Amino acid sequence: MSSPPASAIVIDAVSKTYRPRDSQTVKVALKSVSLDVPRGAMFALLGPNGAGKSTLINIMAGLVNKTSGKVVIWGHDIDTDARQSRRAIGIVPQELNLDPFFTPRETLEVQAGYYGIPKAERRTDEILETVGLADKARAHARTLSGGMRRRLLIAKAMVHNPKILVLDEPTAGVDVELRQQLWETVHEMNALGTTILLTTHYLEEAQENCNTIAILRHGEVVAYESRESLLSRLKDKLVVVRFAAPFAQVPVGLSPFLPEITAPDTLAFRVNREDGGIPALLDALPGCGLKISDIATVEPDLEEVFLRLTRDTPLPGRVTI
Ligand code: ADP
Ligand code: MG
Repeated sequence: MSSPPASAIVIDAVSKTYRPRDSQTVKVALKSVSLDVPRGAMFALLGPNGAGKSTLINIMAGLVNKTSGKVVIWGHDIDTDARQSRRAIGIVPQELNLDPFFTPRETLEVQAGYYGIPKAERRTDEILETVGLADKARAHARTLSGGMRRRLLIAKAMVHNPKILVLDEPTAGVDVELRQQLWETVHEMNALGTTILLTTHYLEEAQENCNTIAILRHGEVVAYESRESLLSRLKDKLVVVRFAAPFAQVPVGLSPFLPEITAPDTLAFRVNREDGGIPALLDALPGCGLKISDIATVEPDLEEVFLRLTRDTPLPGRVTI
């Protein structure tokens, strides 16, 4: 067997323009998106609704034709090597599209048949166990809860033992407890060597669970890096100084620090913590002529990075404490 590729998925300058047949309007959903999903990653594709996440996933799944660009899955180009690329990937779609009359066991057996997996090699029971549906093997899909259906869809995507599992909004509309179970399932699979790519518009989930994060906005990649480096994008620390009384104007000694007036008695300073900005500010404060009543600092979090990268027009740093 040839050695596995370093990249589980390579997306190279992929664009998509939807041209609905019955409409004059065209919709540009993806604009030259390039991404590389490393083998073994737990990769989050993050972005607000309409950003193009499902479009990208559906292109990988062969459900949507891209307008231009190239997608390589586990070393196989989806255009020239569709069969092999589909074998390498399991997709859990955003919609819960299950046949209501099939039981979980039947659902997986049909899917295994679709992939031409011989009966002796099928892992139906093992997979049902993995996703916690062993006791529902013979229940009709329509009697399953939303969370169970979601897990059945994951099971369905695992039938052909793909190297990569792609989940489109796996936790949307799933209650907290089931969401926890889903994450456990996904983490287990990742620990066993499956590369995970998932989309979410829940920032905290990406931050907690994924080691690589890309942010999509209006069909464009606006960030793509490790969780740590995404966080360190905000090298600035926010220093919030409350004075003992309201002030008429920013004291001259503090104006070089370009503070923002966030309340009649409060200034917020965005200070770069790597270039000595904080000591300089602390040196300047005592001589500013105002009595200080409180100082607080705020660490950047992914939320702020996300908001900065996804909002349409950059706003001056707004302080919410
Ligand atoms: P996300 O999954 O990030 O919410 P989508 O990929 O579903 O985003 O949608 C991206 C954009 O493409 C949206 O503006 C959406 O309205 C549009 N879009 C998605 N599917 C179609 C389609 N079949 N026909 C026309 N426009 C579409
Ligand atoms: Mg979507």
